[in-house]
Amino acid sequence: MSRSELLFQAAQKHIPGGVNSPVRAFKGVGGTPIFFKRGAGAYIYDEDDQRYIDYIGSWGPMILGHAYPPVIAAVREALDRGLGFGAPTAIETTMADKVCELVPSMEMVRMVSSGTEATMSAIRLARGFTGRDKIVKFEGCYHGHSDSLLVKAGSGALTLGEPNSPGVPAALAEHTLTLTFNDLESVEKVFAEIGQEIACIIVEPVAGNMNCIPPVPGFLEGLRRICTQYGTVLIFDEVMTGFRVALGGAQAYYGVTPDLTTLGKVIGGGLPVGAFGGRADIMSHIAPLGPVYQAGTLSGNPLAMAAGLTMLNALCEDGVYEALSAKAEYLTEGLKAMADKHQIPFTTTCVGGMFGLFFTSQTQITGFADATACDTAAFSRFFHGMLKEGIYLAPSAYEAGFISNAHSEADLDATLAAADRVFAQLS
Ligand code: PMP
Repeated sequence: MSRSELLFQAAQKHIPGGVNSPVRAFKGVGGTPIFFKRGAGAYIYDEDDQRYIDYIGSWGPMILGHAYPPVIAAVREALDRGLGFGAPTAIETTMADKVCELVPSMEMVRMVSSGTEATMSAIRLARGFTGRDKIVKFEGCYHGHSDSLLVKAGSGALTLGEPNSPGVPAALAEHTLTLTFNDLESVEKVFAEIGQEIACIIVEPVAGNMNCIPPVPGFLEGLRRICTQYGTVLIFDEVMTGFRVALGGAQAYYGVTPDLTTLGKVIGGGLPVGAFGGRADIMSHIAPLGPVYQAGTLSGNPLAMAAGLTMLNALCEDGVYEALSAKAEYLTEGLKAMADKHQIPFTTTCVGGMFGLFFTSQTQITGFADATACDTAAFSRFFHGMLKEGIYLAPSAYEAGFISNAHSEADLDATLAAADRVFAQLS
């Protein structure tokens, strides 16, 4: 038995399913999750000392690779001054200034400790600001696990076949309207009927929790127009896309400005951080400025701020996003060429440093129906074949992949050579 298998057995005694977050359990692909003990650059090392080229990057934040030395040094330096005070620190202001500078639609920002907290708080704020209860989300998009948002959700909820979680009161879920991603007509129709009752639209500007699905031209622009027309708050959930698809996030990439933005992952440099922010007139409704309550004992934690700020500063250097996009394109184009060579129905997407792999003969992937029509059994065989080759992909057909600037050309070529062998076994 491998150490991972032993550790997984032991973990299941006191941890539900042996994991602290469901997607890690390999339910979508079968088999035993790998336990890791160390990461450096593009690589992670498991408990049996096997090295993997990692395409998860802690689900996004490791844009510059694992254990990125400047981030580790910043955390070390902060460590000696104490772990937190539950009181203001100077670095929180520096961080807020930096985030607002890089994402200009964010005139004010509040730090939290996870993406879930960020989206939950943004929804409450939108409801408090508008005095309306209903919210609109899109099928297959995932915005964390707060009650209002676990309706037709993506990510682990979709992988495990529980997009509507038990435990969410029906009376609350009925306020969440779920529409079709990239289908502006369905949005227009609902707004024509009850637009005045809708507090917000929350959307992943690039859907990354049902594989990776970019918006079709006009979709985000249309949402912007509709929200302005009906006095509805437009929330871009950039927990995944923020500082990953471009320095200013998907809103900079597509040139569409939301009212509120939620961030996560990247702005903690790997430590637990999230944030929400946006128009000052909306944000000033948050306590203590306004009546909408939101709080957090560990919010703005100095270690997390030190890691996040160092990461953001590093991402501001010239050429980061050009390199990241070029690597993602090289990888996805290479994978597509390998699949074609072995006559495997397959297509890919990529935006900035995130990408999607689809086992399907369809060439255009625009939404949930396309993502769920893919051959998940073929994906699982590919996943396990690649794992044996030392390539670590997301363990579900419904997750995006993430690349880092630590991935060298040799890493990408090694990945493509492995894919050549694995596709050959699948054909
Ligand atoms: N929003 C999006 C778009 C996400 O991808 C995620 C997590 N993958 C979340 C929100 C929730 O973030 P967290 O897991 O940090 O609570």
